[in-house]
Amino acid sequence: MIKWADVIQFTNQGNPIPDKRVEKTEEEWKQILTPEEYQVTRLKGTERSFSSELCSLFEPGIYECKCCSTLLFDASEKFESGTGWPSFTQPLKENAIAYHADKTFGMVRVEVVCNTCDSHLGHVFPDGPEPSGLRYCINAVSLSKIKE
Ligand SMILES: [Zn+2]
Repeated sequence: MIKWADVIQFTNQGNPIPDKRVEKTEEEWKQILTPEEYQVTRLKGTERSFSSELCSLFEPGIYECKCCSTLLFDASEKFESGTGWPSFTQPLKENAIAYHADKTFGMVRVEVVCNTCDSHLGHVFPDGPEPSGLRYCINAVSLSKIKE
């Protein structure tokens, strides 16, 4: 299980090695993503809160990366955070997600990206439910839900 100390260590000392890498040019990404998906995932945008029905969807299933289809989160780790963004307390696999320091907007936050294709997913915070204590705050447009 990943905890906040692990998040800090990945952020400061390097991320786990992904199972594979997917790399495309900006033009290639634009061809397979909608303008909103491209804005959020490749340009690190943030969707409006409460903009997706995904927030209050708690059916079983797996969430994959919109850009490269890497499996990222299990619905069993999803919880209602009240923030208006889909929230998870743990990734599907330790090496599915990469962590980077984000010092924009006068804050120091930890950005989370897909470790396979570098797609911007959202941020992780140390105020989630036990036992991990983590809250992965994720843009719904960065995810696709697939059935188990
Ligand atoms: Zn990806």
